[in-house]
Amino acid sequence: MRAERLGAISGLVNKMPDALYIAFVDSLLVEVKGLILSIVAVTSAGIATAIAAHSVSLWICTALMLLVSLIRLHVMTLHARSRPSPNVAVARSRETKFVVGAVTYMALMAIWTLVAFWVTDDGFTRFLTAATTIVYAFGMWTRSFAIDKGINAQIIAAFVPLSAAMVVGGGWYPLAILVGFIPTFLFIKASSSRMKANFLAEVAARHQVAMLAGRLDTALNNMSHGLCMVDSEGKLSLTNNQVLRIFGLSEKEAHVGADLRSILRSLVRKGVLARSEFKRLSQALFRNTNRDFVVPLETRDQRALEVTVQRIKSEGTVVVIQDITERRNAEAAIYRMVWFDPVTGLPNRRRFEQELSKALLARQSAGNNGAILFLDLDDFKQVNDSLGHARGDKLLIAVGDRLRSAVEDKDVVARWGGDEFAILLPSREDAHDPSCKAERIIAEINRPFQIDGYEIIIGVSVGVAKLRRDGLTLETLLSNADLALYAAKEEGRNRWRSYEAQLGLNAQSRRTLEIDLRAAIANETIEVHYQPINNAATREIVGCEALARWDHPTRGRISPGEFIPIAEELGLMDALGGIILHRACEACASWPERIFVAVNLSPLQVRGGRVANAVKDALQSSGLAPHRLEVEITESTILHDLPLTRQTLRSIREMGVRIALDDFGTGFSSLSYLHTFPLDKIKIDRSFTIAMGSDQRASIVIASVAGMCKMLGMDVLVEGIETERQMQFVDGLGSVAEVQGFLFSPAVPEKDIRAMFESAVQRKIA
Ligand code: C2E
Ligand code: CA
Ligand code: CA
Repeated sequence: MRAERLGAISGLVNKMPDALYIAFVDSLLVEVKGLILSIVAVTSAGIATAIAAHSVSLWICTALMLLVSLIRLHVMTLHARSRPSPNVAVARSRETKFVVGAVTYMALMAIWTLVAFWVTDDGFTRFLTAATTIVYAFGMWTRSFAIDKGINAQIIAAFVPLSAAMVVGGGWYPLAILVGFIPTFLFIKASSSRMKANFLAEVAARHQVAMLAGRLDTALNNMSHGLCMVDSEGKLSLTNNQVLRIFGLSEKEAHVGADLRSILRSLVRKGVLARSEFKRLSQALFRNTNRDFVVPLETRDQRALEVTVQRIKSEGTVVVIQDITERRNAEAAIYRMVWFDPVTGLPNRRRFEQELSKALLARQSAGNNGAILFLDLDDFKQVNDSLGHARGDKLLIAVGDRLRSAVEDKDVVARWGGDEFAILLPSREDAHDPSCKAERIIAEINRPFQIDGYEIIIGVSVGVAKLRRDGLTLETLLSNADLALYAAKEEGRNRWRSYEAQLGLNAQSRRTLEIDLRAAIANETIEVHYQPINNAATREIVGCEALARWDHPTRGRISPGEFIPIAEELGLMDALGGIILHRACEACASWPERIFVAVNLSPLQVRGGRVANAVKDALQSSGLAPHRLEVEITESTILHDLPLTRQTLRSIREMGVRIALDDFGTGFSSLSYLHTFPLDKIKIDRSFTIAMGSDQRASIVIASVAGMCKMLGMDVLVEGIETERQMQFVDGLGSVAEVQGFLFSPAVPEKDIRAMFESAVQRKIA
């Protein structure tokens, strides 16, 4: 085992790592004090012998020894200035200088002894020189054992002159001493190699320790966390650079042995830590317990730290400090993304639902007057379209601000999406009616907004649902608030509406109606009935107005006044209008030549422009002559005097189809378009007919409009004639061309209208 270790170490010597070799050479050259002592001792012995023997040769020997000593001392001081050697080459040259010096000195001392034996037989001189040299040699060998080449040379340098001195001494006993020297030398040589091995092992171990310490140091200072160790008295026993960096401490402040409590206090003084944070940290650090702690800390400059305090049995505490600012910021960003609306910064829909769920749970114990408000900005789309999305966003932000200022802190204002917002008014004892809140909010939003120099005025519709009364679950509350909002919009916008059970029924029936209407249009189960139009003078049927009829399987007949607007909203008006046009043209094509058909066009059909093609298709497929088709448009169609509308009407008229203005007198009744639009006929609305005869003003309007139209070359039709009296009044006007009303017939199925033509013909023949 021991031999093995020695073998390993001699292997180490032969192929010593550079750093180890340099350390080893260093160890040879650092013993300056020992050298000075030996100079003093040897020089005084030299002087004493020279004086005792009155010998010049001994003076010379002493001088030479002193000279070599001083040179060696010089070499050592030079080394001391730059130790250890910067590289292996320098180390090697220094080692050589050391060896040469040591061997020369040893040789000089042995020669000094030889000279003493030669020049005198004085017992004192001989004893002093021999003893000094032998003592020095033993000392030197044991000290210089490490040098392989040196030790042999030193032994030879000492042995040869000493042996010669014995021979010079004469007689048999010096020879016996000489013989006795040999095993001693051999013993020294052997033990010096062993000591050399031990010495090298020691140097290697020291080197290893220094290397490990260096590595640990590198590891400690390159870890991302701050780390320090505190002993059981609260003094620092280790810190790494990160601790200094995190707290802005200097090495001097956080030196080994510094008191941790006073360091923390200095951090409070410097404004790195708040006093409250200092307290929490001290508690965790100095509490007398074996538990470990994790203390979250926030520095004054808003960095987040996580301090882990770990006790080591009886040895103190390890403190690990982690800067988690980035992690915390990332978490905060994710939190914002998940729970808040990026445009307005308000809570988003998810957050609102969460808060509402909480309020619903809390409601059972607290007062029960909480409510939710659903808000929809009126005409926000127009702002977006005309001023751009960036300004639209600014408006949303401004609306969010006003909503926040209109409610209390504990109320939740959320952006629901698009131009919709939601407000939760949680239960409270002192609550006013939520409708007051709704009114206040509407007033706030109605105040003009200033966005990029534009003054924007918008309205808002609000639906209110009360927390217990209008729903016990999240889903029902939300959908009921939505129904109330829908109702507020239906009633004309910029107003609020509370939820009522009736709204739910309406909405429900409306939804099934929509589904059924889609199916009816797709399956073409919508029928067309015809109401006769009669010549005012002869009362003969001259045409028929096509009127859509929908017989719902469960609800019975549904009025076109109800389902036509739904078809318009669902975007089905083109399809439905196309079906009616085809049916009407086909029917009319089979009627007597003198009869025309009138078809109602919805404003949406005309505005889209596609109706011109639909009219053309219907005429072509039915083969009906264009002059037998009349289309009825309303004032609202004309009011949207878009170039496309005008163009569409013109192209229809160019086909030879006539255009009638329906419901005249109910809308804006601007006379100006009567001559600017290509109209062939005016249909005076039924409301005038009702007032006819009794209300003088109505009579005057009918009379004058009828007269004016006649002059402009347009025919006049009076709608809704129900009584003979009304008919007589029309007769009296003289300027009315056609009449229509229940007096003659309501709208009837196609087969029935045929029978009427027949009977009219019969009557004429009769
Ligand atoms: P409108 O175009 O003014 O049609 C005349 C409406 O008055 C019809 O109601 C007709 O039945 C009714 N009526 C006719 N004479 C009298 C009368 O003497 N007394 C009374 N009280 N009412 C009379 P209807 O069929 O319910 O249609 C209502 C409205 O629905 C129509 O008003 C029209 O605007 C729209 N409509 C009907 N069918 C169509 C269609 O195929 N396409 C489009 N776009 N709209 C249609
Ligand atoms: Ca009509
Ligand atoms: Ca009408």
